[in-house]
Amino acid sequence: MQPRDLSDHVAYEAGRGIEEVARELGRDPSDFVKLASNENPHGPSPAAAVAIRETASSVSSYPKAVHADLRSAVADRWEVTDEQVWLANGGDGAIDYLHRATVVPGDTVLVPDPGFAYYGMSSRFHHGGVREYGLEREDDFAQDAETVLEAYDGDRLVFLTSPHNPSGSTIPLADVETLADATDDETLIVVDEAYGEFADRDSAVALIEGRDGFEARDDVAVLRTFSKAYGLAGVRLGYAVVPDEWSDAYARVNTPFAASELACRAGLAAIDDDEHVERTVGTARESRAYMRENVDAHVWESEGNFVLVDVGDGSVVADEMQERGVIVRDCSSFGLPGCIRITCGTDEETERAVATLNDVLATLDLERDSTDGTDDSSAEVADT
Ligand SMILES: *Cc1c(COP(=O)(O)O)cnc(C)c1O
Repeated sequence: MQPRDLSDHVAYEAGRGIEEVARELGRDPSDFVKLASNENPHGPSPAAAVAIRETASSVSSYPKAVHADLRSAVADRWEVTDEQVWLANGGDGAIDYLHRATVVPGDTVLVPDPGFAYYGMSSRFHHGGVREYGLEREDDFAQDAETVLEAYDGDRLVFLTSPHNPSGSTIPLADVETLADATDDETLIVVDEAYGEFADRDSAVALIEGRDGFEARDDVAVLRTFSKAYGLAGVRLGYAVVPDEWSDAYARVNTPFAASELACRAGLAAIDDDEHVERTVGTARESRAYMRENVDAHVWESEGNFVLVDVGDGSVVADEMQERGVIVRDCSSFGLPGCIRITCGTDEETERAVATLNDVLATLDLERDSTDGTDDSSAEVADT
């Protein structure tokens, strides 16, 4: 007896954790800072932490009332109906629900390359095919309707990531509208706004609801998460906002009690904790500006809580930084082997990351010069 043929499936490569790295290198966990998974450097919303503690004694019950309460609170936040909010086990869970609600064998989904690996993984779980549109490094990973339409071929779902992980680029809402207009009636455009709070951009919920001069439509959905700006990555809570026409499908596709009692209580507390979100967003903006100004390598402009850096060889630089106590994300698994992604940390963490990276870059430059100093070879290394 074997599982079904999973040879097309690839395991998700998460950013590495401090405990894991410290154990492997035989070092003390307190030597490390982790800026590899776009987590919140200020931790969870303090109000959510209190709510989680207080919920401990009631986790013997299924989360019925609180699930409904959180749905309402999220609906209020976006001024949509409760039914338009599909709570899930993380944004990833919401990605699964959108696939369950749409994909039948033979359908394809269109995803960005480079991009977030889970879109394609979820499609394959649901017997869908995966097609890609390219975001070009030479164009600074610019996103517009045309780039996506060139690759589009009647796909059932089209994923946009705005801000985009790992580059930090965004797509204007007018382009999302153009794209939704140009694609088939049966194509749902999913705008993944996992980093929406960090961006100076309006949410694509305006397109669903017909606000800000847009016409309401039934072919756009928006994805959001409590993992990043709210600091609840470990709790697993996210959701999709879907058009009114899609409301009925949730009850038919969701795993019963999609979000746990703890997750719902934490979410309810966090969603009102504006102070924590504002502080988090403020820190990310300062951190990404500091990195752009001070890193001795190309840093792309980012609207997220991370930056992408062109370091020549992401795997070597990430390993060297890790040796020096700073864990960042090598972007090979995103298809960008020349790059690393650094999560925005506190002032102190950001300064340490920049100093460490510059130090590593200088050391590698010296080593390269001493082994083979010709201009040609160093240009080649920088290009890869
Ligand atoms: C982090 C992230 C998500 C959602 O993560 P969850 O922790 O499952 O909520 C979704 N999309 C992108 C692009 C992300 O980076």
